Amino acid sequence: MGVYESLGLTPVINASGAVTRLGGAPMPKTVLDAFQEAAGDWVPLDRLQAAACKMISQVTGTESGIVTAGSAAALTLGTAAIMARMDPGKMERLPQTDGFANEFVVAREHRNGYDHAVRAAGARFVEVGYNEITAGAGVRRVEAWEYEAAFTERTAGVFYVYLDNSAPPLEEVVKAAHRHELPVLVDAAGELPPRSNLMLASATGADLIAFSGGKAIRGPQSSGILCGRRDLIGSAALQMLDMDDHFELWEPPSTLFDADQLVGAPRHGIGRAMKVSKEEIVALTAALALFANGGYDDEIPAQLARLQSIADKLGQGDIEFQLHESPNGESSPILEVYVSDARNVTAVEVCRNLRKGTPPIYVSHGKLSQGILVVHPLCMTDAGADSLADRLLEELG
Ligand SMILES: *Cc1c(COP(=O)(O)O)cnc(C)c1O
Repeated sequence: MGVYESLGLTPVINASGAVTRLGGAPMPKTVLDAFQEAAGDWVPLDRLQAAACKMISQVTGTESGIVTAGSAAALTLGTAAIMARMDPGKMERLPQTDGFANEFVVAREHRNGYDHAVRAAGARFVEVGYNEITAGAGVRRVEAWEYEAAFTERTAGVFYVYLDNSAPPLEEVVKAAHRHELPVLVDAAGELPPRSNLMLASATGADLIAFSGGKAIRGPQSSGILCGRRDLIGSAALQMLDMDDHFELWEPPSTLFDADQLVGAPRHGIGRAMKVSKEEIVALTAALALFANGGYDDEIPAQLARLQSIADKLGQGDIEFQLHESPNGESSPILEVYVSDARNVTAVEVCRNLRKGTPPIYVSHGKLSQGILVVHPLCMTDAGADSLADRLLEELG
């Protein structure tokens, strides 16, 4: 009996890709081996983070970086670092921010559910711009001057959510913020691949960037990366590490932070609730090495073949679909299946029926309102693809 069966669960066919709800991306054998080997020995975690820092800064072109408990944790830590800097008194008070700058200026159109992670550190958002395109009541998106107009002495920094079509361009927001000596924290959690985005901070001057480790990097699902300015990463690291040590025994790694800037060692910070294990740190660095060197690219043809086999069956059943090949040779190809109005089921019903079937199948649900089921091949086997094709024929044929 498998581990899930012994817990009374049936594994599902994941046709949604590296989504957290279903457990994230498949970890390659190299990564799992690194995880297992790391479990057999013990090292001081601050030094392990300093070693990871060296590697992260190399592949991201930044001064510094740490492994976090997911991208969301990276956002909380980045926010905490920007507000508290190297002041142990402020670190101690977070998320209570009375008496110091705690406002993050953010474009209204960048607001999303994940920004709870920024607010969790005690920050308050000040929104700028409108959502005129969505509202259908205007033609302009948010502009850089609007950020500058919102800066006051209560402003701690800027929060920016990066997509390849985010407005205004990140470089412009960075310039505006830096004119006022304010740092920019960027959520780029899901914006890998392309792996060129690893260089986002060095390319744009952004101060801190958060990436997920459990999506395309294919590290542990609960891992992430925060990279950028050394002083801010140092603060973030201090607020995450377990600090239960004597000041006179403590040997903080100087590559990660300047302990001589501290008046004393802080106690556990807000990030202590987001700790990362030695196994996760080691496995993330193994996965990052694979990802950064294009180690996953040669899986793209097999993913395409998997989707093509589903598409062939759909074609025989007269079901409409569109196959989108990888746009860059790094991202997975995608299959969109259309639930036309002529059928007497809706896309939501088909999605629900697939989940309730045996075995349960989870297709991506991002386009259901347009009558589209999206099939992502990353976490699927060839057998899973066959089952999905058969079930789609049953539901839509
Ligand atoms: C996935 C995602 C996150 C959260 O990342 P985790 O690594 O799961 O914590 C945050 N922001 C965006 C935009 C994401 O897509």
